Amino acid sequence: MNGITIALSKGRIFEETLPLLAAAGIVPLEHPESSRKLIINTNRPDVRVVIVRASDTPTYVQHGAADIGIAGRDVLLEHGGAGLYQPLDLNIARCRMCVAVPVGFDYQQAVRRGARLRVATKYISTAREHFADKGVHVDLIKLYGSMELAPLVGLADAIVDLVSSGNTLLANNLMVVEELMTISSRLIVNQAALKMKHEILQPLIDAFAGAVK
Ligand code: ATP
Ligand code: MG
Repeated sequence: MNGITIALSKGRIFEETLPLLAAAGIVPLEHPESSRKLIINTNRPDVRVVIVRASDTPTYVQHGAADIGIAGRDVLLEHGGAGLYQPLDLNIARCRMCVAVPVGFDYQQAVRRGARLRVATKYISTAREHFADKGVHVDLIKLYGSMELAPLVGLADAIVDLVSSGNTLLANNLMVVEELMTISSRLIVNQAALKMKHEILQPLIDAFAGAVK
């Protein structure tokens, strides 16, 4: 393709990216929720959007199937970032990555005694690094969603998950006991594309930078 392809996940990233695209003069011609299309054209014949799973965005950009994309820090840390240029923190899809346990579970005590903690998470490598830095022994259990359920049914003692309002934790009688990091989404660019398609990409990156609050 002569133009450029932008990889976005539907949901919060797509919604929060629309104003940034608008700042660059780009308007998608369809909405992924209603059209169900995976390739969406825009008002600009040289720009199209592909709709991917959030955790797949870095993979599409790494391999050049998309020239640029937008992915959460959580997803980028798990992916590793190989082959990706990350020029901008877009300050969208903001939340925190936290350790949470059932209300009443004495986390500090469990950690002090050197107990082996069972931790369920989608973020295995980030969680592994976090607990290794603390010197806490953990058995990591990989889940793909609904992490909050794991401690409630005895699958794990704790979870590492993303928290924004905290309402989901509250509704399931869980509480945050530690914050690993703040999360927001970043612009990612294929390194070869940045050179080959510099004339299209650089104005886009500049427009995004100008629109970031
Ligand atoms: P899926 O919902 O398809 O399982 P996902 O949960 O990774 O995948 P989204 O829920 O769209 O996809 O999340 C996309 C990104 O938005 C995440 O990678 C993260 O950076 C951020 N995010 C996730 N949950 C929240 C939240 N509650 N509030 C703000 N940002 C969030
Ligand atoms: Mg989600």
